[in-house]
Amino acid sequence: MASAVNPEFRGARRRLVEALQAGGISDLAVLKAIEETPRHIFVPTGVRHRAYEDSSLPIGSGQTISQPSVHARYLQLLQLQGHERVLEIGTGSGYQTVLLAHLAAQVFSIERVAPLLEKARDIVRECGSRNVSFLLGDGTIGWRQYAPYDAILVSAASPDIPHPLVDQLAMGGKLLIPLGDRDEQMLTMVTRLPDRYERRDIVPVRFVPLLGTHGWTSP
Ligand code: SAH
Repeated sequence: MASAVNPEFRGARRRLVEALQAGGISDLAVLKAIEETPRHIFVPTGVRHRAYEDSSLPIGSGQTISQPSVHARYLQLLQLQGHERVLEIGTGSGYQTVLLAHLAAQVFSIERVAPLLEKARDIVRECGSRNVSFLLGDGTIGWRQYAPYDAILVSAASPDIPHPLVDQLAMGGKLLIPLGDRDEQMLTMVTRLPDRYERRDIVPVRFVPLLGTHGWTSP
């Protein structure tokens, strides 16, 4: 972590955290995780100078790292206490994976694009996160071996709720997923209750497509 937390970017990271606070992010654990995570090492060198702007950036393979305010909102909604097992679908750059590693006990992260997963695995290790397991494959079928999960975060947009994911939620567990068409989606939170699933619309969002058996079947 010492090499990754470059003092050169410390001021920029602080300003990002202040902007997120001003924008309504109040969960101190989330803000601390963002302040301690060097976002610039998750993006290609050509866009590194933009790493602490509140914008999404290209990460290769046609994919993007989400806006910091989107990650912050996702994480604040989950209200993680530190003891949870979390499943992340769409590792991408691995940035949110490291934020989750700060906020939960165990993180399981699935990515379908091999070069992205390999790069993310290295950077997550460089950040010193030791509580993360990775899987190359289709996240729409979940990761049954380690279920149930207290939270499942889907970082790509799906036309419908992938049923294996709700099946793999613990009682009281929350699934966050953007649902809709390819251009626009509604960030949706599904909570598993003893007798039913509660579904709540959060905010309109735009994500890259979730490609897989229970998502979009063609790019
Ligand atoms: N949180 C990541 C988001 C990356 S974009 C970040 O900020 O870096 C979404 C990612 O979901 C892409 O890397 C894409 O390859 C991946 N993805 C899409 N469909 C998937 C699936 N079925 N299983 C696993 N990953 C998937």
